[in-house]
Amino acid sequence: MEKYKCKSVGIIGSGIQGVCIGLQLIKKGIPVTIFDRHDPLSTNFHPASYGNAGHFSPYAVLQFNRTDILYDVPKMLFSSYGPLALKWNYIPKMIPWLLHYLKNCNKKSMLHTAKYMNQILSLSNDAYEEIFKEIDTTNLIKKEGIIYVWTNKNLKSRELEIKTRKNLGIEQKLLTQKEILELEPNLKPVFDSGVIYENAIHARDPQGILKKIFKLFIDKGGKFIQENIISLKQISESQTIINSESEEYSFEKTVIASGAFSKNLTDQLGENIPLDTERGYHVHFKGMEHLISRPVIFLDRGFGLTPMNQGLRAVGTVELGGLENPPSKKRIDYIIKCAKELLPQLTSHEDEWLGFRPTLPDFLPILGPSLKNKNIIYAFGHHHLGWTLGAITGKIISGIVAGEKTNLDLSPYSSKRFN
Ligand SMILES: Cc1cc2nc3c(=O)[nH]c(=O)nc-3n(C[C@H](O)[C@H](O)[C@H](O)COP(=O)(O)OP(=O)(O)OC[C@H]3O[C@@H](n4cnc5c(N)ncnc54)[C@H](O)[C@@H]3O)c2cc1C
Repeated sequence: MEKYKCKSVGIIGSGIQGVCIGLQLIKKGIPVTIFDRHDPLSTNFHPASYGNAGHFSPYAVLQFNRTDILYDVPKMLFSSYGPLALKWNYIPKMIPWLLHYLKNCNKKSMLHTAKYMNQILSLSNDAYEEIFKEIDTTNLIKKEGIIYVWTNKNLKSRELEIKTRKNLGIEQKLLTQKEILELEPNLKPVFDSGVIYENAIHARDPQGILKKIFKLFIDKGGKFIQENIISLKQISESQTIINSESEEYSFEKTVIASGAFSKNLTDQLGENIPLDTERGYHVHFKGMEHLISRPVIFLDRGFGLTPMNQGLRAVGTVELGGLENPPSKKRIDYIIKCAKELLPQLTSHEDEWLGFRPTLPDFLPILGPSLKNKNIIYAFGHHHLGWTLGAITGKIISGIVAGEKTNLDLSPYSSKRFN
């Protein structure tokens, strides 16, 4: 049996990245403690890993650093009925992110992101399958495919997406409006055509899955401490220190898996990483999940519907507004309006939720050691795909911590690209 050098690891964050990393490390026999200011088993634990759309989307290689999207941004921003919104008071704080974004908004960068998203996305479902063998996923996961629909208004963008996926060998089946309605007869035909990823799976309850993985981690000997971590540092080659308001903890290595909040910690390490957040929302229409059999995403509107155990989840939109601004009623109204456009039979909604996608301006996550503190390892910035990428992130980061060799090219995910 291989002998691992690492003696102990602290992980900050018990979202899907944190628990999957913890699980893989404990399986390697490395003692692990996960920290979170919330208890992942409580009903009040609502991070991004709880409220997302539940898609496992290994096909979603194209991100938003695309010129076709950039040209539409001003129009979208000034429309009160658009998929993108701004909290205007946040713009000054967002300037560094926006400047990096503009730099990365070109064809070369778009294809670079697609290539390296594909590298990890193509491994993402297999990594989950390994975990799903160890937990009971009854009524938590469904394999019915995922449908995207669109109108003929932005066909150039749709053609680009279809072509890029085809070039990367991603399976996709284009659908006419009639074929979509055969699969989902309750939808109002306000779209022209679409695509189905027939082998795609979705979560009926992301938080239910997260809890099961967390319990598996604990059963295997992992530890959890409910604390708000305020600082960390590497004090020697073999010691890192994590501080909460009242306690100090020492580990050989520390992993930052704190989602959109990770920048509060990386700023302390002398690295200016332009992490920000794309805020997203959801509501539930209770008892209405039977209206569709699988997730349906309306691309023109930047929102989707997922049948979940909690109800029919209407979820999505992007709002640039940081971590502190209050939720926007207008965004919630927008989602409800979009949901009723596709399913006019929907009535009242519940559970208004705001969540924070952790997003870097080139739409690649950061996976790897801090530049100046090699025993502090970064695992954040998974933007729209952090749910899909949880299990593979667990494998990659645990391998880095344990000093294992990999065939993957991990250099594109280094924070070096921003320094
Ligand atoms: C509306 C919406 C829809 C989405 N839909 C999908 C989808 O369908 N498919 C998909 O793949 N992805 C989706 N995503 C993205 C995905 O949900 C996120 O990328 C992913 O959940 C991020 O996981 P994480 O573990 O990095 O962060 P989080 O889930 O945010 O977890 C971070 C944890 O760190 C803790 N933490 C932070 N700072 C500290 C600190 N200082 N001390 C202690 N604890 C701390 C927080 O409490 C939190 O529990 C969606 C996101 C949103 C918002």
